Amino acid sequence: MMLHEMGVAALRRALAAKSVSSEELVGHLLARIAAEKSLGAFLHVDAEGASAAARAADARRAAGDSAPLLGIPIAHKDVFVTASMPTSAGSKILAGYRSPFDATVVARLGDGEPGHAPGAGAISLGKLNCDEFAMGSANENSAFGAVLNPWDRTRVPGGSSGGSAAAVAARLLPAATGTDTGGSIRQPASFSGITGIKPTYGVCSRYGMIAFASSLDQAGPLARSAEDCALLLSAMSGFDERDATSAQRPPQDFHAQMLQSRDGVSKALPLAGLRIGLPREFFPANLASDVAAAVHAALAELEKLGASLVDVSLPRTELSIPVYYIIAPAEASSNLSRFDGVKFGHRATQYSDLADMYRKTRSEGFGPEVKRRIMIGTYVLSHGYYDAYYLQAQKLRRMIADDFQRCFADCDLIAGPVAPSVAWKLGEKGNDPIQAYLADIFTLPASLAGLPGMSLPAGFGAQGMPVGLQLIGNYFAEGQLLHAAHALQQATDWHAQAPAGV
Ligand code: GLN
Repeated sequence: MMLHEMGVAALRRALAAKSVSSEELVGHLLARIAAEKSLGAFLHVDAEGASAAARAADARRAAGDSAPLLGIPIAHKDVFVTASMPTSAGSKILAGYRSPFDATVVARLGDGEPGHAPGAGAISLGKLNCDEFAMGSANENSAFGAVLNPWDRTRVPGGSSGGSAAAVAARLLPAATGTDTGGSIRQPASFSGITGIKPTYGVCSRYGMIAFASSLDQAGPLARSAEDCALLLSAMSGFDERDATSAQRPPQDFHAQMLQSRDGVSKALPLAGLRIGLPREFFPANLASDVAAAVHAALAELEKLGASLVDVSLPRTELSIPVYYIIAPAEASSNLSRFDGVKFGHRATQYSDLADMYRKTRSEGFGPEVKRRIMIGTYVLSHGYYDAYYLQAQKLRRMIADDFQRCFADCDLIAGPVAPSVAWKLGEKGNDPIQAYLADIFTLPASLAGLPGMSLPAGFGAQGMPVGLQLIGNYFAEGQLLHAAHALQQATDWHAQAPAGV
């Protein structure tokens, strides 16, 4: 097996056995990244820094260090701030911005936080392209260009973590970080044929993650298997006193949880007793037939592993679209007020007074989708409309979360498609944001409820494009989710398929 075909777990074993060095591995991937520039996955590559870090990791290993991800190459979505590389959030307004500190997720995966436990020892090769401030579903809202889908370079890789998904699918990296506010880990994983998990809200620290909609934003890994996701998630999660919404739980070993059967008793069938709920609203008549067929094939595999399928209902699924597209822009309009030309990034060069400086800086710095959302958000929060829109959306958000709890009385996990279709053509939805919003229908409910969700490869649909299966768990049931996903991947090989020529 070539080095770039190996996932995190396999590379960990090879590095531990010293059958490969981190320096060799990083050099191999940097060459691939340089050769695949046209994919548009990276916004910044730190070849020198990564090579030096690889040599240091090899020296640490030789000295007996066995940090969990020591010497494993990864890269971060460009919404995580990094001290050693620029951070843009895919926006012109932050072009060239350099943070004085690392996001908690970055530090924990890498060198650790000053004064805290040591980091996992992974090496960051660079920063990955994404939709501007993570607003989008196709990575076409990046100020620095689109990302191509490695399965078909005329199609989008999904978004907003499009660079992360494309890089992992093209075997430029074994894993990457992403963020998911309304589907931005799950949907690009689905479109690009890889595995991703958005944990329960609060599991990963948002400190140093550039805010889009703070009550929804969550970090998570994208990789090629559930096992690799579990390894990364263990390293990047955990309580952080610098994030007031961080979950106060002891550190979790998601990899160990993934390996354990639900009740700790090993059974002939790994998923015996597991009840998987199928919300009827996740299988509407207009669901693309290729997506439906792939999802049903994956469900049949889960049944063979012992799981039982039960009918459930999430009656407010459709309402999750207007609810999300009120709440997320409302929070974004507030969060993005900090980009005013005074404290960060771009400032207009010619202006008459302070108000004019704000106006010109923001007009020049933000792209059209970000401006649209700031306007929607400001509108729904304004006097006279707050009660009619924002407050109503908040009430419905609670009802959507309650609907899930009713489902979980009858099932352990919920399953369905990630997106209503396979990846669309570049430019296809560019002029019609509503079409893109509507395609978020299956990822938004779990986001609004704060529940963990995964996307895993479930075969191929039209034109050979990947289809993802979504699994949603109850709060803090990441271990159970990963266990089911791992069992499915042990029995099938959809996740092991690579795009042609990769
Ligand atoms: N597609 C959704 C949006 O445009 C979700 C984005 C995300 O999860 N960051 O807002």
